[in-house]
Amino acid sequence: MGVHLTTGEVRSGQTQRRGLRTVTLALFLVTISLLRLAAAQSRPAADLIITHAKVWTVDKNRPTAEAVAVLGERIVAVGTSAEVTAWQGPGTRVIDAGGKLLLPGFNDAHVHFVSGGMQLDNVDLKEADSQEEFARRIGERAKATPQGEWVLGGDWDHERWSPAELPTRQLIDAVTPATPVFVNRYDGHMALANSVALRLARVTAKTPDPPGGTIVRDAQGNPTGVLKDAAMGYVQKVIPPLTRERRTQVVKRALAHAASLGVTSVQDMNPEYADIAVYSELAEKGELITRIYAAPLEPQWNDQAKIGIRRAFGSSYLRMGALKGYADGSLGSTTAYFFEPYDDTPQSRGLLSSEMRPLPAMRGRMMKADEAGLQLCIHAIGDQGISMILDLFQDVARAHGERDRRFRIEHAQHMAPADFERFAKLHVIASMQPYHAIDDGRWAEKRIGPERIKSTYAFRSMLDHGVRLAFGTDWNVAPLSPMLGIYAAVTRATLDGKNPQGWVPEQKITVAETVEAYTMGSAYAEFQEKEKGSITPGKLADLVVLSGDIFQMRSEAVQDVKVELTVVGGRVVYERQK
Ligand SMILES: [Zn+2]
Repeated sequence: MGVHLTTGEVRSGQTQRRGLRTVTLALFLVTISLLRLAAAQSRPAADLIITHAKVWTVDKNRPTAEAVAVLGERIVAVGTSAEVTAWQGPGTRVIDAGGKLLLPGFNDAHVHFVSGGMQLDNVDLKEADSQEEFARRIGERAKATPQGEWVLGGDWDHERWSPAELPTRQLIDAVTPATPVFVNRYDGHMALANSVALRLARVTAKTPDPPGGTIVRDAQGNPTGVLKDAAMGYVQKVIPPLTRERRTQVVKRALAHAASLGVTSVQDMNPEYADIAVYSELAEKGELITRIYAAPLEPQWNDQAKIGIRRAFGSSYLRMGALKGYADGSLGSTTAYFFEPYDDTPQSRGLLSSEMRPLPAMRGRMMKADEAGLQLCIHAIGDQGISMILDLFQDVARAHGERDRRFRIEHAQHMAPADFERFAKLHVIASMQPYHAIDDGRWAEKRIGPERIKSTYAFRSMLDHGVRLAFGTDWNVAPLSPMLGIYAAVTRATLDGKNPQGWVPEQKITVAETVEAYTMGSAYAEFQEKEKGSITPGKLADLVVLSGDIFQMRSEAVQDVKVELTVVGGRVVYERQK
């Protein structure tokens, strides 16, 4: 900006200049003294200090400490309480952890975040211990459901009932005469529709089974209401989508739930694009209090590729660039794909997903996704399903050469013993969910026999072969609580209480190994090991304080440990009410 002086002002120019010089000198002196003061303090003050903690850093350079200082969204100091107190200034919030355990925030490597948020709202059939209770809960919910809305969710488990028979639409039709119902089994691989829902979806005796799916039928060939895997699509197509407003509500519920459990990052498997839009809007407003890595469905690989999105693209709060694919179904639905038949269903070896048929099409898409720099995370549960994905990964790596691409197999539940080595050699990450082991462990042997269970949820064998583990829950399929996951990996004590010493105990791992898989392991699985996963100066300040020391207590007690405090990017997002 120029300064224009009128004739009258020119005359007093000399005096003004002298005055300016005096002001400049004064400013100079003030600046010098401020700099001296800053130099005496030697560093800016921390925004947050947590002292008197048992810090377990998951950083091999400094495995334990007493205190952590945070400036802005990052960790600036880790050390003794005295060392870290040097970062304290008048504006610093100091939290005395009272000797409690402080860990890096948990990073759940496999969730279905919006389904989880919806589960917090939907009809709850998880605890329904009989067909009668199942029908009663659905009837009650239908009565409270506004006209035109559906009864959804549920997460029922017929393995809890005796006899363990699948439910039918007849069981619930009388209590839901005008309300469409579509309630899923807890593993998400089958669901029960009532007659209203089947009518809306136009599923009749004449409807064929789609590839990769089954319409369960009675002796006359009529649908019983249970639809497996791809057949669920018939009904899903006619369920009205969530409104933006409701979706935002659901995400906010999920975020609050994650914060209360010490989960500071999640890797969201097959989100809808509308979910990502909500995450993005919340991130913009500073309301995304859980960091999210989103992995949309693999067949849509080109949506990301065509606009140049590569793995781990985005901000510290929201990233994309991964793809989630499916090789097969689940053990619970007898659709996981095995080399040998099921022991309790000898006519079946399971089902390959529709994505895998024909196989060259799957290979072609994986090649293109890899070429575009996208990360591949493929669900594979049965031993042959896993083996086929390893083959495909090998094809991709051979065609495009060695590169740090971090292929992932999601679940990796039932390993062919010969495949551990291949898994390690291809640097494939095993993205596993320990809670499933104590859940499926109740009945897995009946389904696959005594031999195959030895390499089932094989945490120990994976680590012994040098395979990297990334832990998570598969929420909403299992509870989001990391404490339950740690308890499961360490005890392998099945939920029915029948294996107190551990189901296939050789596959147990230690608390330290489990915590690492749940923090650094999952950070590595999303290319973020330099940003988070350990309590290290320079990394994002994602921290959690626990009510008890899980390294010292009896392993059975780990499941009762509570989260006292959750910090994401230096911000306290949860504090337990006393
Ligand atoms: Zn899943």
